[in-house]
Amino acid sequence: MDKLEYWLKVLFNREAFRPGQREVVEAVLAGRDVLALWPTGAGKSLTYQLPALLLPGLTLVISPLIALMEDQVEQLRRRSANWAHYLNSSQSTDLRHDIIQELHNGKVKMLFLAPERLLNYYFLEQLRHIPISLMAVDEAHCITQWGNDFRHSYMRIGEAVRVLKPRSILAVTATADSQTAQQICRSLGMCNPLLSRLSLDRPNLEYAAVKAPLKQRAELALQHLQKSAGLPAVIYASKRDHTESLAKFFQENGLKAAPYHAGLPAEERRRIQQAFLEDKLQLITATTAFGMGVDKPNIRQVIHITPPNSPEGYYQEAGRAGRDRNKGHCLLFWGSEDFNWLKNQGQSRYACARDIRKFYSLLPRHPARDLRLEFIHLSQTAWDTLTDTALGYEADLDDIAEPILEESCLINYFERLQSRAEQRLEAMENYCRTRECRRRALLSYFDQEAPAHCGACDNCLNRISRQLGLHLQAIA
Ligand SMILES: [Zn+2]
Repeated sequence: MDKLEYWLKVLFNREAFRPGQREVVEAVLAGRDVLALWPTGAGKSLTYQLPALLLPGLTLVISPLIALMEDQVEQLRRRSANWAHYLNSSQSTDLRHDIIQELHNGKVKMLFLAPERLLNYYFLEQLRHIPISLMAVDEAHCITQWGNDFRHSYMRIGEAVRVLKPRSILAVTATADSQTAQQICRSLGMCNPLLSRLSLDRPNLEYAAVKAPLKQRAELALQHLQKSAGLPAVIYASKRDHTESLAKFFQENGLKAAPYHAGLPAEERRRIQQAFLEDKLQLITATTAFGMGVDKPNIRQVIHITPPNSPEGYYQEAGRAGRDRNKGHCLLFWGSEDFNWLKNQGQSRYACARDIRKFYSLLPRHPARDLRLEFIHLSQTAWDTLTDTALGYEADLDDIAEPILEESCLINYFERLQSRAEQRLEAMENYCRTRECRRRALLSYFDQEAPAHCGACDNCLNRISRQLGLHLQAIA
């Protein structure tokens, strides 16, 4: 047993590394930057938790969700790793102060943070004087993916990297095509990174996509749930009120179901999530707000009543089925009207060149907040994206502020994001429409090799039954 295996045993009670883990841990220990493109459940957290213990300085872990960091720190502490902490807005000022004190005393080896905290100048100043061995960025696709997971603050992690100068950077994500991977490396200023790519294939998942009118989909989903051993299940829909009417429909049909979306009070969301984790609920009908950081291994089905806007989103949401490696089913309903709606949604996500020019021409004379009425046609998301990107995340919108980006840069930037979002949506539509193997369609979107037929998606199964039919005809 070598040193790494010894600590693997002590800290994680495991005898052997899973595929890829040792290579990444060794690279990080040697001070190399690493981009790990690993599927969900491959054991990403170990690749920064183990080096955090073995490296001399501090390991910073940037994580998008408070619940995720709390979970990880709690698990580590159960294994008596008292050197793991997190800082977030749910803590009292006093507690945060104490943790920062501990940092200076060298008693903290690993600190979990939300990306927003790195934008705080005062906090960065404090960190600047502490040697940082490793900066790990979890869910690194948030840097580039301007979809549901996107966080403006993620874009600025690169600035913190320049200030803090960590010995190495480790970015991990489950969902990135080559272009996104390059963007992550560039944005974080990674130097000659090791690219660790594990197959994104989840052989235990079966895929199907069905074209159906919106009105019939709940009934079809119900039939599907009753036919197959399909519970617990997550049902995704795009709109909040839709998740509520769906929950009611399934309740009326005898299932223990509840809706979940960002419009519900935090307390209620926690309660519903907990009930689902404990199998007291069989079904959650949710928007994309549900899922990140939810570790429920026995979800048997993920059904999309309406399609998401990118293959990245689909892979991630569907991938919540079957994390215990037992069979999981991923069914997606779609219709042309869904894609028309998604296209419209997408078009209103970014301010256009004309709006940006107008915004910049008014800025020198008005605080940004006073300009909202001039741009009332922009959605709240588009407005927030515009002000955050042009003026900086922490800019005071009540003051007259200088933009941090040049007008032409911003126009160009938004145009690129817009066209990338359109490509993603098109790829999602192709996934729905294809008659080829769906697993292959999904994997090749992420630039991964796959056999022509997987034998476990609707298209492959139809092909087999067609061939079988012909064969039977021939015999008859
Ligand atoms: Zn297939």
